[in-house]
Amino acid sequence: MSHTDTSKIIETEAVIVGGGLVGLTLALALAKGGVECVVIDALDPAAVTDAGFDGRVSAIAFASCRMFRALNMWDDLGPHAQPINDIVVSDSRGPRAANKGAASPFFLHFDHREIGDEPLGHLIENRHTRMAQQKAVEAEPLVTLIAPDGVMSVERDDHSATAILRSGTRVRGQVAFACDGRGSPTREAAGIKLVKWSYKQTGIVTTVEHEKPHEGVAQEYFLPSGPFAILPMVGNRSSLVWTEASHLAPAFLELDDERFAAEIADRFGDFLGDLSPVGPRWSYPLGLQIAPEYVKPRLALVGDAAHGVHPIAGQGLNLGLRDVAALAEVIVDTARLGLDIGSLETLKRYERWRRFDNTVLAAGMDGLVHLFSNDFAPLRHARDLGLGIVNEIGPLRRLFMRHAGGTVALGGEEKLPKLLRGETV
Ligand SMILES: Cc1cc2nc3c(=O)[nH]c(=O)nc-3n(C[C@H](O)[C@H](O)[C@H](O)COP(=O)(O)OP(=O)(O)OC[C@H]3O[C@@H](n4cnc5c(N)ncnc54)[C@H](O)[C@@H]3O)c2cc1C
Repeated sequence: MSHTDTSKIIETEAVIVGGGLVGLTLALALAKGGVECVVIDALDPAAVTDAGFDGRVSAIAFASCRMFRALNMWDDLGPHAQPINDIVVSDSRGPRAANKGAASPFFLHFDHREIGDEPLGHLIENRHTRMAQQKAVEAEPLVTLIAPDGVMSVERDDHSATAILRSGTRVRGQVAFACDGRGSPTREAAGIKLVKWSYKQTGIVTTVEHEKPHEGVAQEYFLPSGPFAILPMVGNRSSLVWTEASHLAPAFLELDDERFAAEIADRFGDFLGDLSPVGPRWSYPLGLQIAPEYVKPRLALVGDAAHGVHPIAGQGLNLGLRDVAALAEVIVDTARLGLDIGSLETLKRYERWRRFDNTVLAAGMDGLVHLFSNDFAPLRHARDLGLGIVNEIGPLRRLFMRHAGGTVALGGEEKLPKLLRGETV
C-alpha cells in the first residue's frame, strides 16, 4: 500500500479502479498469470477491515471457494469460514399473521451430501475476506495497491487507459477495469446507461448469538415483506439478512435493543434456543441493475459495476467472482500470445462469456423476489406447491445445488473458467 505524490506517472499493464472484494480478487488473479496491475481504492484499507465498516457475511459458493484456494487465500480464510452443509427454504406468514411465524408444511431442503462430500459453500465475514486479500496483495510483487486515493476520471485513447487520481498521480496501462461498485463513476463517465429498478426493500443486516449450534444449516423464510435469511457463522452465531419494505425499515432500525431483539425472535423462531442480537445494525437499499454492455475501447466493467442483484440467493459477489475468473483467463491468454490485452476484440470475449450468464441469473433472482415478497393467497399456495415439488424431485434439486455452487455454467461445464475449477490461469 502506498501514498502517492502529485504529478507522478505510474506505468503498468492493467489499471483496476476499485479495490473492493472484486477488484482485489481480479488483481490477484491477473498477477498469478503474470499480468502486472495497479489497484486504486478511495477507502483506507485499515478502515474497510474494521468490524464496524461492513457487517455483511457473504455466502461464498463452492466454486468461488476453489478460486480463493487457487489464489492462496484459503490458509487465512479457512479458520473464519463456516461450511454450509444444508439450506432449508420455507414459506412463512410472518409474525403478525394468525399462525404467527409458522413455516408452511412445504419446504425445500438442499443437503450437500446429495452431490458429494464438500459443503455447498462457506459463509465468510466480508472483513475477513478483505483481510486475506490485503495480505495476499502485499505478498504479490505484480500488484500495487494505492489507497486511500480516489480515481477522478479515466482517459482512454487508442493504446492506453489512464486513471487520474485525486492526489494528482496518473496511472497508465493498456486497459482499465472498473470494479468500482454499483454506483461506478467510471461506468457513468463512459456513458454506459443501466437497466435498473428498486425493489422498494431494505436489507437489514445484523448478527445474533444463539444457545444451540446451527450445524451449518442456512435457513431462508419468505415473509410477506421479503426473505428473511439466517446464515450460520463460525461459533453459535448467525448473520441475519432481514428484507423489509423500505418505508418500514427505518422504524425497525431505530428500535431499542430489547424491542429489536423481540422483532427478530418473532421472525427467527426458537429452533436455536435463546438468542440475542450482537453488534451494530446495517441497512442496504435493494434493487436490480444491469449494464447492457460491459466493455468500451480500453475499458471493462466487472462485479457490481456491471450487475447488482438482490441478496435473496446470496449470489451478487459470486457473480462478480465469476466475472473475475473469466476476465483473468481472457487477459492472461491474450498476454501470453503477445497480443494487446486492452483491444476491444479481447474485451468482447470477456463480455460474451459473462453477460448472458449474469443476465439470466439476475432475471431469475428478480422473478424469485417478486414471487416470494408477496402475501397474495393463490400465489402463496402456488409457490408452496412449487417448493414441495422441487423438493420431491432429486435430479432437479441436485441441479439447483450445482448451479448455486457455481460448478456448472449455463453453457455447460466447458464454459467454466479455470479458476472456478480450482486451477490457476
Ligand atoms: C445485504 C447484502 C447481503 C449480501 N450477501 C451476499 C452473499 O451472501 N453472497 C454474495 O455472493 N453476495 C452478497 N451480496 C452482494 C455483494 O456484497 C456484492 O456483490 C459485492 O460486495 C460487490 O463487490 P464489488 O467489489 O463489485 O463492489 P464494492 O464492494 O461496492 O466495491 C467497490 C470499491 O470501489 C471503490 N471505489 C468506488 N469509486 C471509486 C473511485 N472513484 N476511486 C477509487 N475507488 C473507488 C470503493 O471504495 C469500493 O472499495 C450481498 C449484498 C447485500 C447488500
